[in-house]
Amino acid sequence: MLVLDRRSLLKATAAGAVVAAGNGPADAKAPKDTAAAGEAPGFYRFALGDYRITLLCDGVFSLPTESIATNVAADEKKAYFDAHYIASDTFALQINPLVIDTGQKRILVDTGIGVGKDWALQAGRLDKALESAGIAADTIDTVVLTHCHPDHIGGIDADPAKQFPNAELVVSETEMGLWNAPDAASKVPEWARELVPGIQKTFAALGDRMRPVKSGGEIVTGVASIDTAGHTPGHISLLVGSGEKQLLITGDAIASIHISFDQPEWQIIWDHDREKGATTRRALLDRAANDRLLVAGYHYPFPGVGHVVKEGQGFRWLPSDWVWEG
Ligand SMILES: [Zn+2]
Repeated sequence: MLVLDRRSLLKATAAGAVVAAGNGPADAKAPKDTAAAGEAPGFYRFALGDYRITLLCDGVFSLPTESIATNVAADEKKAYFDAHYIASDTFALQINPLVIDTGQKRILVDTGIGVGKDWALQAGRLDKALESAGIAADTIDTVVLTHCHPDHIGGIDADPAKQFPNAELVVSETEMGLWNAPDAASKVPEWARELVPGIQKTFAALGDRMRPVKSGGEIVTGVASIDTAGHTPGHISLLVGSGEKQLLITGDAIASIHISFDQPEWQIIWDHDREKGATTRRALLDRAANDRLLVAGYHYPFPGVGHVVKEGQGFRWLPSDWVWEG
Protein backbone atom coordinates (compact mmCIF):
# COMPACT_ATOMS: atom_id res chain seq x y z
CA MET A 1 0.00 0.00 0.00
CA LEU A 2 1.20 3.44 -0.83
CA VAL A 3 1.88 5.51 2.22
CA LEU A 4 2.86 9.06 1.54
CA ASP A 5 3.11 11.09 4.66
CA ARG A 6 4.86 14.42 5.04
CA ARG A 7 8.04 12.76 6.27
CA SER A 8 8.42 10.55 3.22
CA LEU A 9 7.58 13.51 1.00
CA LEU A 10 10.29 15.57 2.65
CA LYS A 11 12.76 12.70 2.41
CA ALA A 12 12.01 12.27 -1.26
CA THR A 13 12.19 16.01 -1.81
CA ALA A 14 15.58 16.19 -0.13
CA ALA A 15 16.76 13.36 -2.37
CA GLY A 16 15.48 15.34 -5.35
CA ALA A 17 17.49 18.36 -4.28
CA VAL A 18 20.63 16.22 -4.22
CA VAL A 19 19.90 14.86 -7.68
CA ALA A 20 19.25 18.38 -8.99
CA ALA A 21 22.44 19.75 -7.45
CA GLY A 22 24.47 16.94 -9.00
CA ASN A 23 23.17 17.59 -12.48
CA GLY A 24 22.74 21.34 -12.53
CA PRO A 25 24.87 24.44 -12.83
CA ALA A 26 25.46 24.42 -9.06
CA ASP A 27 27.40 21.13 -9.34
CA ALA A 28 30.17 21.00 -6.73
CA LYS A 29 32.71 20.30 -9.49
CA ALA A 30 31.71 23.40 -11.43
CA PRO A 31 33.93 26.51 -11.20
CA LYS A 32 33.08 28.62 -8.16
CA ASP A 33 33.00 31.94 -9.96
CA THR A 34 30.22 34.47 -9.51
CA ALA A 35 28.42 33.48 -12.67
CA ALA A 36 28.05 29.90 -11.47
CA ALA A 37 26.91 30.88 -7.97
CA GLY A 38 23.29 31.60 -8.81
CA GLU A 39 20.70 32.28 -11.44
CA ALA A 40 19.06 35.53 -12.44
CA PRO A 41 15.42 36.01 -11.47
CA GLY A 42 13.41 35.10 -14.52
CA PHE A 43 10.46 36.63 -16.30
CA TYR A 44 9.09 36.37 -19.81
CA ARG A 45 6.69 38.93 -21.24
CA PHE A 46 4.60 38.84 -24.39
CA ALA A 47 1.62 40.64 -25.90
CA LEU A 48 -1.81 39.05 -26.03
CA GLY A 49 -3.85 41.48 -28.12
CA ASP A 50 -3.87 44.68 -26.08
CA TYR A 51 -2.82 42.86 -22.91
CA ARG A 52 0.63 42.06 -21.60
CA ILE A 53 1.29 38.67 -20.04
CA THR A 54 4.33 38.25 -17.79
CA LEU A 55 5.40 34.76 -16.74
CA LEU A 56 7.39 34.75 -13.50
CA CYS A 57 9.84 32.05 -12.49
CA ASP A 58 9.26 31.13 -8.83
CA GLY A 59 11.76 28.24 -9.02
CA VAL A 60 11.41 24.50 -8.86
CA PHE A 61 10.49 21.76 -6.41
CA SER A 62 10.36 17.99 -6.46
CA LEU A 63 7.72 15.39 -5.72
CA PRO A 64 8.09 11.64 -5.26
CA THR A 65 7.45 9.65 -8.43
CA GLU A 66 5.38 7.22 -6.35
CA SER A 67 2.77 10.00 -6.15
CA ILE A 68 2.08 9.92 -9.90
CA ALA A 69 0.61 7.25 -12.17
CA THR A 70 -0.90 5.56 -9.14
CA ASN A 71 -3.16 3.34 -11.27
CA VAL A 72 -0.35 2.05 -13.49
CA ALA A 73 1.68 -1.18 -13.17
CA ALA A 74 5.21 -0.65 -11.83
CA ASP A 75 6.98 -2.01 -14.93
CA GLU A 76 4.92 0.14 -17.29
CA LYS A 77 5.64 3.17 -15.14
CA LYS A 78 9.35 2.46 -15.02
CA ALA A 79 9.58 2.06 -18.79
CA TYR A 80 7.76 5.37 -19.30
CA PHE A 81 9.89 7.23 -16.75
CA ASP A 82 13.13 5.85 -18.22
CA ALA A 83 12.06 6.91 -21.70
CA HIS A 84 11.33 10.44 -20.46
CA TYR A 85 14.42 10.92 -18.28
CA ILE A 86 12.30 11.01 -15.13
CA ALA A 87 14.27 9.69 -12.14
CA SER A 88 12.88 6.71 -10.25
CA ASP A 89 12.63 8.58 -6.93
CA THR A 90 11.59 12.19 -7.63
CA PHE A 91 10.53 14.40 -10.48
CA ALA A 92 10.86 18.16 -10.76
CA LEU A 93 8.08 20.71 -11.23
CA GLN A 94 8.74 24.30 -12.18
CA ILE A 95 6.49 26.99 -10.73
CA ASN A 96 5.28 29.71 -13.10
CA PRO A 97 2.91 32.33 -11.66
CA LEU A 98 1.95 35.03 -14.15
CA VAL A 99 0.64 38.58 -14.32
CA ILE A 100 -2.08 39.67 -16.76
CA ASP A 101 -1.87 43.41 -17.41
CA THR A 102 -5.05 44.53 -19.18
CA GLY A 103 -4.11 48.21 -19.12
CA GLN A 104 -6.87 48.71 -16.54
CA LYS A 105 -6.03 45.93 -14.10
CA ARG A 106 -3.05 43.87 -13.02
CA ILE A 107 -3.98 40.33 -12.12
CA LEU A 108 -1.51 37.90 -10.55
CA VAL A 109 -2.44 34.26 -11.12
CA ASP A 110 -1.13 31.99 -8.36
CA THR A 111 1.65 33.05 -6.03
CA GLY A 112 4.32 30.35 -5.99
CA ILE A 113 5.64 28.53 -2.94
CA GLY A 114 6.98 31.34 -0.78
CA VAL A 115 10.40 31.92 0.72
CA GLY A 116 12.13 29.48 3.06
CA LYS A 117 9.75 26.51 2.83
CA ASP A 118 11.82 23.55 4.02
CA TRP A 119 10.37 21.25 1.34
CA ALA A 120 11.11 23.63 -1.55
CA LEU A 121 14.25 25.63 -0.93
CA GLN A 122 14.81 26.17 -4.66
CA ALA A 123 11.52 28.05 -4.91
CA GLY A 124 10.14 31.31 -3.52
CA ARG A 125 11.59 33.65 -6.14
CA LEU A 126 8.30 35.38 -7.00
CA ASP A 127 9.18 38.68 -5.29
CA LYS A 128 12.53 38.88 -7.09
CA ALA A 129 10.96 37.96 -10.42
CA LEU A 130 8.28 40.64 -9.99
CA GLU A 131 10.93 43.20 -9.11
CA SER A 132 13.05 42.37 -12.12
CA ALA A 133 9.94 42.56 -14.33
CA GLY A 134 9.27 46.06 -12.95
CA ILE A 135 6.00 45.09 -11.28
CA ALA A 136 5.60 46.51 -7.76
CA ALA A 137 3.58 44.30 -5.42
CA ASP A 138 1.33 47.22 -4.45
CA THR A 139 0.25 47.68 -8.09
CA ILE A 140 -1.40 44.24 -8.21
CA ASP A 141 -5.21 44.73 -8.18
CA THR A 142 -6.28 41.10 -8.05
CA VAL A 143 -4.64 37.84 -7.00
CA VAL A 144 -6.40 34.78 -8.42
CA LEU A 145 -5.68 31.36 -6.98
CA THR A 146 -6.55 28.44 -9.26
CA HIS A 147 -6.75 26.44 -6.02
CA CYS A 148 -5.24 26.51 -2.55
CA HIS A 149 -2.44 23.93 -2.57
CA PRO A 150 0.78 25.24 -0.99
CA ASP A 151 2.65 25.70 -4.27
CA HIS A 152 -0.07 28.16 -5.36
CA ILE A 153 -1.03 29.98 -2.14
CA GLY A 154 2.48 29.88 -0.63
CA GLY A 155 3.52 33.30 -1.90
CA ILE A 156 0.96 35.04 0.27
CA ASP A 157 0.69 32.91 3.37
CA ALA A 158 3.65 34.45 5.25
CA ASP A 159 1.93 37.81 5.73
CA PRO A 160 -1.33 37.77 3.77
CA ALA A 161 -2.46 41.24 4.78
CA LYS A 162 0.74 42.93 3.59
CA GLN A 163 2.08 40.87 0.70
CA PHE A 164 -0.09 42.44 -2.03
CA PRO A 165 -1.62 45.26 0.03
CA ASN A 166 -4.01 46.63 -2.60
CA ALA A 167 -5.21 43.37 -4.05
CA GLU A 168 -8.41 41.45 -3.63
CA LEU A 169 -7.98 37.68 -3.50
CA VAL A 170 -10.15 35.62 -5.83
CA VAL A 171 -10.84 31.90 -5.41
CA SER A 172 -13.85 29.89 -6.48
CA GLU A 173 -16.73 29.71 -4.02
CA THR A 174 -16.33 25.95 -3.92
CA GLU A 175 -12.62 26.18 -3.12
CA MET A 176 -13.20 28.70 -0.34
CA GLY A 177 -16.08 26.66 1.05
CA LEU A 178 -13.99 23.49 1.05
CA TRP A 179 -11.00 24.81 3.00
CA ASN A 180 -13.01 27.11 5.25
CA ALA A 181 -15.49 24.44 6.38
CA PRO A 182 -15.31 23.60 10.09
CA ASP A 183 -14.91 19.94 9.07
CA ALA A 184 -12.55 20.68 6.16
CA ALA A 185 -10.05 18.06 7.34
CA SER A 186 -12.59 15.32 6.70
CA LYS A 187 -13.31 16.61 3.17
CA VAL A 188 -9.76 16.60 1.80
CA PRO A 189 -7.33 13.72 1.14
CA GLU A 190 -5.27 12.57 4.11
CA TRP A 191 -2.08 14.20 2.80
CA ALA A 192 -3.86 17.58 2.61
CA ARG A 193 -5.26 17.65 6.15
CA GLU A 194 -2.28 19.45 7.63
CA LEU A 195 -2.80 22.29 5.12
CA VAL A 196 -6.21 23.25 6.52
CA PRO A 197 -5.21 25.48 9.49
CA GLY A 198 -2.75 27.53 7.42
CA ILE A 199 -5.25 28.13 4.61
CA GLN A 200 -7.96 29.13 7.08
CA LYS A 201 -5.51 31.53 8.73
CA THR A 202 -4.69 33.11 5.35
CA PHE A 203 -8.37 33.53 4.48
CA ALA A 204 -9.05 35.07 7.91
CA ALA A 205 -6.15 37.50 7.58
CA LEU A 206 -7.50 38.70 4.21
CA GLY A 207 -11.02 39.10 5.59
CA ASP A 208 -13.24 41.10 3.25
CA ARG A 209 -10.48 41.30 0.64
CA MET A 210 -11.47 37.73 -0.28
CA ARG A 211 -13.78 37.63 -3.32
CA PRO A 212 -15.17 34.15 -3.94
CA VAL A 213 -16.45 33.69 -7.52
CA LYS A 214 -18.65 31.14 -9.22
CA SER A 215 -16.63 28.64 -11.28
CA GLY A 216 -17.29 29.48 -14.92
CA GLY A 217 -17.97 33.18 -14.34
CA GLU A 218 -16.01 36.28 -15.30
CA ILE A 219 -13.40 37.45 -12.79
CA VAL A 220 -12.58 40.81 -14.35
CA THR A 221 -13.28 42.06 -17.87
CA GLY A 222 -11.33 39.84 -20.25
CA VAL A 223 -10.59 37.10 -17.70
CA ALA A 224 -13.09 34.26 -17.28
CA SER A 225 -12.86 31.25 -15.01
CA ILE A 226 -13.43 27.69 -16.22
CA ASP A 227 -14.66 25.01 -13.86
CA THR A 228 -11.87 22.41 -13.88
CA ALA A 229 -12.78 20.52 -10.70
CA GLY A 230 -10.93 17.31 -9.96
CA HIS A 231 -7.49 18.39 -8.82
CA THR A 232 -9.48 20.09 -6.06
CA PRO A 233 -13.28 20.40 -5.98
CA GLY A 234 -13.04 24.15 -6.55
CA HIS A 235 -10.15 24.22 -9.03
CA ILE A 236 -10.50 26.83 -11.79
CA SER A 237 -8.56 27.44 -14.97
CA LEU A 238 -8.69 30.82 -16.70
CA LEU A 239 -9.41 31.97 -20.23
CA VAL A 240 -7.97 35.38 -21.02
CA GLY A 241 -9.19 37.16 -24.14
CA SER A 242 -8.15 40.37 -25.82
CA GLY A 243 -9.50 40.96 -29.32
CA GLU A 244 -8.93 37.78 -31.35
CA LYS A 245 -6.26 36.48 -29.00
CA GLN A 246 -6.92 34.01 -26.22
CA LEU A 247 -4.77 32.39 -23.54
CA LEU A 248 -5.76 29.34 -21.49
CA ILE A 249 -4.18 29.22 -18.04
CA THR A 250 -4.48 25.61 -16.92
CA GLY A 251 -3.41 25.75 -13.28
CA ASP A 252 -2.95 22.14 -12.16
CA ALA A 253 -5.70 20.66 -14.35
CA ILE A 254 -2.89 19.67 -16.76
CA ALA A 255 0.14 19.59 -14.49
CA SER A 256 2.89 17.86 -16.47
CA ILE A 257 4.09 18.14 -20.08
CA HIS A 258 4.78 14.41 -19.95
CA ILE A 259 2.22 12.17 -18.29
CA SER A 260 -0.71 14.62 -18.42
CA PHE A 261 -0.35 14.83 -22.20
CA ASP A 262 0.72 11.30 -23.10
CA GLN A 263 -1.47 9.51 -20.57
CA PRO A 264 -4.25 11.81 -19.30
CA GLU A 265 -5.89 8.89 -17.51
CA TRP A 266 -2.84 8.13 -15.36
CA GLN A 267 -3.92 9.24 -11.91
CA ILE A 268 -1.97 11.38 -9.47
CA ILE A 269 -2.23 11.37 -5.71
CA TRP A 270 -2.45 15.18 -5.66
CA ASP A 271 -5.87 15.14 -7.40
CA HIS A 272 -8.49 15.17 -4.63
CA ASP A 273 -10.76 13.19 -6.96
CA ARG A 274 -8.41 11.17 -9.16
CA GLU A 275 -11.04 9.97 -11.65
CA LYS A 276 -12.59 13.39 -12.07
CA GLY A 277 -9.09 14.85 -12.35
CA ALA A 278 -8.44 12.56 -15.32
CA THR A 279 -11.78 13.34 -16.99
CA THR A 280 -11.25 17.07 -16.57
CA ARG A 281 -7.67 16.81 -17.85
CA ARG A 282 -8.70 15.10 -21.09
CA ALA A 283 -11.61 17.51 -21.64
CA LEU A 284 -9.39 20.57 -21.18
CA LEU A 285 -6.67 19.14 -23.44
CA ASP A 286 -9.34 18.43 -26.07
CA ARG A 287 -10.63 21.99 -25.84
CA ALA A 288 -7.12 23.47 -26.06
CA ALA A 289 -6.32 21.35 -29.13
CA ASN A 290 -9.68 21.84 -30.87
CA ASP A 291 -9.77 25.60 -30.27
CA ARG A 292 -6.02 25.98 -31.05
CA LEU A 293 -5.61 27.91 -27.80
CA LEU A 294 -2.35 29.38 -26.60
CA VAL A 295 -1.70 27.74 -23.21
CA ALA A 296 0.27 28.71 -20.10
CA GLY A 297 1.18 25.79 -17.83
CA TYR A 298 2.03 26.43 -14.19
CA HIS A 299 4.38 23.49 -13.77
CA TYR A 300 5.91 23.31 -17.25
CA PRO A 301 9.55 24.09 -18.07
CA PHE A 302 9.79 27.89 -17.91
CA PRO A 303 8.14 29.92 -19.34
CA GLY A 304 5.63 27.17 -20.10
CA VAL A 305 3.79 28.81 -23.01
CA GLY A 306 2.75 26.78 -26.03
CA HIS A 307 0.07 24.77 -27.78
CA VAL A 308 -1.61 21.39 -27.44
CA VAL A 309 -1.93 19.01 -30.39
CA LYS A 310 -3.59 15.61 -30.50
CA GLU A 311 -1.28 12.65 -30.94
CA GLY A 312 -2.33 9.01 -30.87
CA GLN A 313 -4.64 8.39 -27.94
CA GLY A 314 -3.19 11.39 -26.13
CA PHE A 315 -1.69 14.81 -26.81
CA ARG A 316 1.64 16.52 -27.34
CA TRP A 317 3.00 19.77 -25.89
CA LEU A 318 4.46 22.21 -28.42
CA PRO A 319 6.39 24.96 -26.62
CA SER A 320 6.25 28.37 -28.28
CA ASP A 321 9.36 30.16 -29.40
CA TRP A 322 10.54 32.90 -27.11
CA VAL A 323 9.36 36.24 -28.54
CA TRP A 324 11.46 39.33 -27.87
CA GLU A 325 9.56 42.57 -27.74
CA GLY A 326 11.02 45.90 -28.79
ZN1 LIG B 1 0.60 22.91 -8.32
